[in-house]
Amino acid sequence: MEDTIFMKIIRREIPAEIVYEDADTIAFLDVKPTAPGHTLVVPKKPVQNIFDADDETLAAVMRTVRKISPAVRDAVGAHGVHINSNHGEAAGQIVFHLHFHIIPRHSRDEFRFWPQNDYLKGDAATIAEKIRIGIK
Ligand code: AMP
Repeated sequence: MEDTIFMKIIRREIPAEIVYEDADTIAFLDVKPTAPGHTLVVPKKPVQNIFDADDETLAAVMRTVRKISPAVRDAVGAHGVHINSNHGEAAGQIVFHLHFHIIPRHSRDEFRFWPQNDYLKGDAATIAEKIRIGIK
C-alpha cells in the first residue's frame, strides 16, 4: 500500500490536532470539518478500507470510535454524532487509509446525508439474495 497523509500524521511528520492515541489507533481533527469537532479515527496499521481490513484492525478502530464519540459530542455541545466511513473512490474515499469520521450533529442542524428511495417490486428480494450468496 502506498504511503498516505495519515501515515505522515502517525509518524509526526506533519502536524495534526491529535486528540487520542493508543497502540493501534490514532484520532485527530479533520482539517476540513463538516462541523467543528469533526474527528477522524485511523488505525496505525496501513489498510486501505473495508475491503482489505482484518477483523482485529476494525475492532480496534471501532473501540476508539466508541471511546471518543461522547467527548467529541460534548466538546462542541452537540446532541449526537454521525459516524461515516467511505470505502472506495465511488463512495467518495479520498485518503486510502481506513478511517471513520465522527461528525457532531446538533438537533436542528440542516445536514441531509441520505436520500431515501423505493425499490421496484421484486428488486429488494433479488438484491438481498445476491448479497446472501456473496457473503464469504
Ligand atoms: P475521505 O477519504 O473522503 O473519507 O476523507 C478524507 C478526509 O481526510 C477529508 O475529510 C479530509 O478533510 C481529511 N484530511 C485530509 N488531509 C488531512 C490532514 N492532513 N489532516 C486532517 N485531515 C485531513
